[in-house]
Amino acid sequence: MELASSSPEKIAKPVRHVRSSQGHIHIDQVAITFGRGKSAHLAVKQTDIEIQPGEFVCILGPSGCGKSTLLNSIAGYVTPTSGRVVVDGEEIKEPGPDRGMVFQQYSLFPWKTVRENIAFGPHIRGASKQETSSTTETFLEMVGLAKFASRYPAELSGGMQQRVGIARALANYPRVLLMDEPFGALDSQTRHMMQESLLQIWEEFGTTVLFVTHDIDEAVFLADRVLVMSASPGSIIADLRIDLPRPRHADMIMDTQFLAFKRLCQDYIKAESVKAFEQQNA
Ligand code: ADP
Ligand code: MG
Repeated sequence: MELASSSPEKIAKPVRHVRSSQGHIHIDQVAITFGRGKSAHLAVKQTDIEIQPGEFVCILGPSGCGKSTLLNSIAGYVTPTSGRVVVDGEEIKEPGPDRGMVFQQYSLFPWKTVRENIAFGPHIRGASKQETSSTTETFLEMVGLAKFASRYPAELSGGMQQRVGIARALANYPRVLLMDEPFGALDSQTRHMMQESLLQIWEEFGTTVLFVTHDIDEAVFLADRVLVMSASPGSIIADLRIDLPRPRHADMIMDTQFLAFKRLCQDYIKAESVKAFEQQNA
């Protein structure tokens, strides 16, 4: 089922692309502290990142380093303690459909069908019945789930539920797609297929993607740029351009060039864990 629904030929052309001039992100001197006084906890050290429209950027770092916190500040769920997040010139103050979010937990409406889940965004933003319907069908096709449109989330595999999550986020035509370890709960074979289909969808759709992961292979496989984060409190310790050719295919992970990027990321992460270990034992 999974294999059939993920075949590249099934991915349809969208009727409308996001304009490539949209989706510029500036994380402008952002620092994030939780709590106050004695219980204050610095989650993200002052960070400055600029992401260009249409870029696919992965944030790679160990568990607890502040990846989700940083992503949530772009989504508008977390307000920076200092600095600001600016998307296309507008400071982020709250969540909005212009920034689509896909979490590790599928977070679909269990009482709605696949089609109704995808139609939800267009419906609440007041799109006409006809527009809602054509948008929904476009994204159902794009994620290879047209045949499963009338199913409920509980009737689908994890990978398929995550496709619905992606389609639901894209149906709002977001400037930015924010993904927080979206494939973390999937088995490795499904994860690899999802990575390939995500890249195909991104190449069709052209939106900026900010993708959080602790998996080096995943980051290098997907990204134009990998931002390596230090152990907590998180800060960006490397900004690596991954100029592997596109389209990328699963068998590239054995290529010399791929392995060189992987090693580079590994070296940064290793140096960071040694530093953290030394600090703890000083
Ligand atoms: P990651 O996504 O890299 O695993 P998080 O961003 O979830 O890391 O967390 C970074 C740090 O901030 C952790 O120490 C975590 O316990 C803390 N943290 C995250 N969210 C909150 C919150 N709402 N309140 C207090 N501390 C938090
Ligand atoms: Mg996280």
